[in-house]
Amino acid sequence: MRCVLVYLGTALVMSGCAGTTQPDDVELCTGFPSWETSPYVLPYPVGTAYLVDQANCSPPGNGHRGVARYGYDFLMPIGTRVTAARAGVVSMLEESHFDGEIAATGKDNYLYVLHDDGTSALYGHFTYLGVAVDVGQAVTQGMLLGFSGNTGNTGNKPHLHLSVFTCNPIVLGSAACPTAPFTFRNTDPNPSGLQRGLVYEANDG
Ligand SMILES: [Zn+2]
Repeated sequence: MRCVLVYLGTALVMSGCAGTTQPDDVELCTGFPSWETSPYVLPYPVGTAYLVDQANCSPPGNGHRGVARYGYDFLMPIGTRVTAARAGVVSMLEESHFDGEIAATGKDNYLYVLHDDGTSALYGHFTYLGVAVDVGQAVTQGMLLGFSGNTGNTGNKPHLHLSVFTCNPIVLGSAACPTAPFTFRNTDPNPSGLQRGLVYEANDG
């Protein structure tokens, strides 16, 4: 018998498959902080707008699952300006891979920024030599971080990945520092985070 997961109110229950569970089929993404007072702005310049191709709690087979279930993929051409969503200090970066070097792991160009509350942001898939800041450098919100690309686990769609970890995954590991829900204050209302398939313009809010 085929198992079916259904929502009843806020409870997720199994139907038609007593005795089994399939926790990987459906994940819950909840607990989003207020978007109006969010410390985050969209990671691209004011006046520009990009499509969210993947958001929180992706369907099975996509990257935003499990401990990595909170995050956003913004479709953008290679070379698009990427700016800091929040102030912090650059803690790690990689920019040696060429665009078109696609792999689930190991081919990403990326950048981590550590925030003053101990959380850490990952900006992923930069273009070759596309990071414009250095490790140890303090970055202010809205500052140019680099240029987007098509490296690593992109599905061969050039895009920017952005996620926030509850602590510093470089030090403590991604299992200990799962991704956290986050919102943006300088765009359309996003009380449950950005939604897949919508275009969000960065305003100066
Ligand atoms: Zn992603």
